[in-house]
Amino acid sequence: MRAITVVPGDPSSAGLSELAEPQAGPGDLLVEPLLLGICGTDREIVNAGHGEAPEGEERLVLGHELLARVRTAPDGSGAREGDLVAGIVRRPDPEPCACCARGEWDMCRNGRYTERGIKGRHGFGAEVVALESDFAIRVDPELGDLGVLTEPASILAKAWEQIERIGGRACSEHRRALITGAGPIGLLAALMGAQRGLEVHVLDRDEEGIKPELVRDLGAAYQTGSVAELAERTEPDIVVECTGVAQLVIDAMQHNAPGAVVCLTGVAAQRTLSIDVGALNNEVVLENDVVFGSVNANARHFEQAAEALRKADRAWLGRLITRRVPLESWRDALDKREEDIKTVVEFPASARRDG
Ligand code: BGC
Repeated sequence: MRAITVVPGDPSSAGLSELAEPQAGPGDLLVEPLLLGICGTDREIVNAGHGEAPEGEERLVLGHELLARVRTAPDGSGAREGDLVAGIVRRPDPEPCACCARGEWDMCRNGRYTERGIKGRHGFGAEVVALESDFAIRVDPELGDLGVLTEPASILAKAWEQIERIGGRACSEHRRALITGAGPIGLLAALMGAQRGLEVHVLDRDEEGIKPELVRDLGAAYQTGSVAELAERTEPDIVVECTGVAQLVIDAMQHNAPGAVVCLTGVAAQRTLSIDVGALNNEVVLENDVVFGSVNANARHFEQAAEALRKADRAWLGRLITRRVPLESWRDALDKREEDIKTVVEFPASARRDG
């Protein structure tokens, strides 16, 4: 079978390898990927050496945003042949730490977790994948291809859960959310903010095109310009930073309403900025703000993501998938083009299903 593999950090090594089909271990499903979403993490693994191959191996099978069809399922797994599933990315550390021990591997305390397609475990970018049944999430068949958005949506389901837990300390409910960045993560954050009945503002650079349209079609406000100016006008009490752009990270922490909850979800490139740390400190301290980071997702968040997608407008979700690339030319999916929101790689099993 063919698999998308790479020696992390060596772009010239990225290609399709011929590998033996995996054997299903006890409790494993064998699944046939239909679609695989590509994100910034995949680009970083290929180009910048983020991620690592399994111990003792040089190459990593890439891919963590999976939509697959079940080929075989063991008795008692709850899955059946033909089911659509998404795959949970992280596996608990072997120790396990207090968080991994209770299934909260997204909060792993010792960093010894592994992640499929990212850190120490092969990913989902192969024609056949063995997926542990406890780490498979059923996708509503009605969602079809849109189920490929389950993994990115799980990242926001976790972020929103944490925002709400932290927000529970406030005297009144938070009502206005500012989302920085209208990529897939920002747009899914906005969707979930709108589903919660909040006033949602999304900030990005494009003056026109699909991003403003998608935001407005959620009933949210699309904004360009600076965070400072926007925050002055709208006083957001929730900020979800989805770009990892250093200046926006600082701006998100600094410009918001008193008592704001600021959630950072992006992974930032190292960047030195000259800022007044005292002023930043005082903004946070004197306004009782909370700034926190959020990464990854556990099984509960995947279920919440599946539910959020089920409730969303299908046509709107469909517009997030802006480019489909066949497996043969998967490398094209790594390009970031102007009009891209989410690019997905199409596996041959997808064509067999359609035709
Ligand atoms: C994935 C997460 C993962 C993170 C860090 C993201 O792209 O969606 O599941 O924890 O990268 O590796």
